[in-house]
Amino acid sequence: MAKQRLPLCAIYGGTFDPIHYGHLKSVEALAKLAALHQVTIMPNNVPPHRPQPEASSQQRKEMVELAIAGNPLFRLDARELQRSTPSYTVETLEQIRAEHGPEQPLAFVIGQDSLLSLHHWHRWEALTGLCHLLVCQRPGYAIAMDNADQQRWLDSHLTSHVNDLHSAPGGKVFLAQTPPYDISATVIRQRLENNLPCDDLVPAPVLEFIHLHHLYRSVPEAK
Ligand code: ATP
Repeated sequence: MAKQRLPLCAIYGGTFDPIHYGHLKSVEALAKLAALHQVTIMPNNVPPHRPQPEASSQQRKEMVELAIAGNPLFRLDARELQRSTPSYTVETLEQIRAEHGPEQPLAFVIGQDSLLSLHHWHRWEALTGLCHLLVCQRPGYAIAMDNADQQRWLDSHLTSHVNDLHSAPGGKVFLAQTPPYDISATVIRQRLENNLPCDDLVPAPVLEFIHLHHLYRSVPEAK
């Protein structure tokens, strides 16, 4: 009897401070290109030595919930927020790999900016031993890696065949031709701080939540 294929399980990590259309639309496009049935959004617990998110863990989680409500492509995994300590992506992926077993095709989704800085991540070379990396385009970031060693590493893992992602548990890097969305959480926070509209950048329920909780403002709104 033919062995049943396990569906590719895709995880999307990030700070999501706040979640925005650059995240959501890139991954919706990626899902079509890589035949993903579901993507799990996994907000991270930020290490103390890094700039801290402006919204609390609970608020970042609630904003993700609002952004994905009614969209069956997405689900939320809040495991990193439930820990009292920050966790490294590689360690969380080890945990997820242990939960799913060695055969399960697993992928971690990142933007092009994250690919370029991947060599700064804790035990970054172990990542492709645990999963595939699916990379969304991000305008303003180089296509090539910073140096020859990193480029060699990338070239040795690259695939343009979607089937490679579904037929192996991990090990490949897929550079998806997603449309470029010039949106970042940093710009959104700055715009909110300056009372500028963000309707095209953030889903309406998330924006309502931001206003309701007076997030990303140092000065309270004038009545
Ligand atoms: P900040 O501006 O606060 O650094 P951000 O907008 O980059 O935040 P993160 O939550 O840090 O958002 O990003 C999570 C993941 O989403 C990262 O892998 C990042 O590369 C990717 N990403 C964020 N914005 C985009 C975008 N506009 N297009 C494609 N990928 C994106």
